[in-house]
Amino acid sequence: MAHWSNWSGRHRAEPDRLHFIRSEEDAAALALGAQKQGRTIRVAGAGHSHAPLVPNSEVIADISALSGVMSVDQDHQRAWVRAGTPIYALGPALHQYGLALSNQGDIDRQTIGGACGTGTHGTGRGVANLSAAVVGARVASAMGEIIECDPAQTSDVWNVACLNLGSIGIVTALELQLREAYRLAESAFVADGDEVEARIPELVAENDRFEFYWSPQTDRAFVKRMNETNEPAQYPVAAEGKRVAWSFEVYPSHRAQLHTEMEYSVPMERGPDCFRAIKELVTLDFPDVEMPVEYRTVASDDVWLSTANGRETVTISVHRDIHHDEGPLFRACEEIFLEYEGRPHWGKVNYLDGEQLAAIHADWDQWWLERDRLDPSGTFLNDYMRSIRSS
Ligand SMILES: Cc1cc2nc3c(=O)[nH]c(=O)nc-3n(C[C@H](O)[C@H](O)[C@H](O)COP(=O)(O)OP(=O)(O)OC[C@H]3O[C@@H](n4cnc5c(N)ncnc54)[C@H](O)[C@@H]3O)c2cc1C
Repeated sequence: MAHWSNWSGRHRAEPDRLHFIRSEEDAAALALGAQKQGRTIRVAGAGHSHAPLVPNSEVIADISALSGVMSVDQDHQRAWVRAGTPIYALGPALHQYGLALSNQGDIDRQTIGGACGTGTHGTGRGVANLSAAVVGARVASAMGEIIECDPAQTSDVWNVACLNLGSIGIVTALELQLREAYRLAESAFVADGDEVEARIPELVAENDRFEFYWSPQTDRAFVKRMNETNEPAQYPVAAEGKRVAWSFEVYPSHRAQLHTEMEYSVPMERGPDCFRAIKELVTLDFPDVEMPVEYRTVASDDVWLSTANGRETVTISVHRDIHHDEGPLFRACEEIFLEYEGRPHWGKVNYLDGEQLAAIHADWDQWWLERDRLDPSGTFLNDYMRSIRSS
């Protein structure tokens, strides 16, 4: 029997079949075959989602062989990349063309397909999530066709393809809007939690990219600032908090402690108050929590199901070591996040049902309508996706 597990080990599956996709033609044939046999498929990227998006008892399709840059449009600063390309490989490959992603998350182990498919983001006022960089996609559909979509000609498909939750087909390639390569100077300091909390608006405004991690055990915050610079890169790249190098060399950190995570996005102006409420909850009711609370910002976008759709956003994440039951902490935090108009990160833990998600996302019904049109037999739905579809 085949085995699959996500990064933390919290989600596991024993599918009837683990298929290693070898080409776009292979993906199309796999999709058609499953549809005809009434079987379901979920694609596995790098397995870094904390939400049960990949587990499936029938077919899990590994996309890692579809990797690399396919073509580059220098004039428009765009590139077609294979969906299984790990972000750590994408940075150096794009750099050869003098191009880069506008932003990246805390780690670079994800595939670009998985990251875009869940609205993965980094931090920075004015910098949108990765789904917002998608300007084209190629999808192997349940009908065995390769559908290519873009915002101009085929916006119906493109609207669901940008943030697709693995539910419209096998994404074989993405066209991404990039920018010229840039260097970042990262600097960090540690201060009292209250001091950093009081300075949030100023730190957001002063820095291209700002985030902090508040540690409940010490009530201290590790503040990270990343600003674009013309300073030369310094090698070997220093430890987190002291780096000056090309963007793709500065963004990623190493996350050694296996954990699970909940993250909600709230409107930018409500971020500081929401953080304060979470801090109070953790301090008073969960004194044993040892992992930090993270605070970041993301620019507004118009991507269907994006947590930053239509609003400048603050994201707040709570973490729990994998050996603890995260349920009590996460459920208590979720109540607070919802009071602050929170929207859950698709790749992390939440306990919402379809009705609650429909109330949060204005484009929820349209997203499902288009998804269903592309995959009427539900070939690309798993238990989790079926559980959140509103009745
Ligand atoms: C240590 C750690 C750090 C993280 N840091 C951040 C961060 O800084 N910012 C942030 O926003 N998130 C972060 N995340 C969350 C992570 O970025 C997302 O969960 C992302 O989706 C993981 O990408 P993946 O390649 O592992 O995809 P997976 O988790 O394998 O898959 C995610 C979804 O995409 C689908 N999928 C993947 N590839 C394809 C494809 N080619 N075709 C169709 N569907 C596909 C899957 O079916 C699934 O539905 C972090 C997660 C971990 C574990």
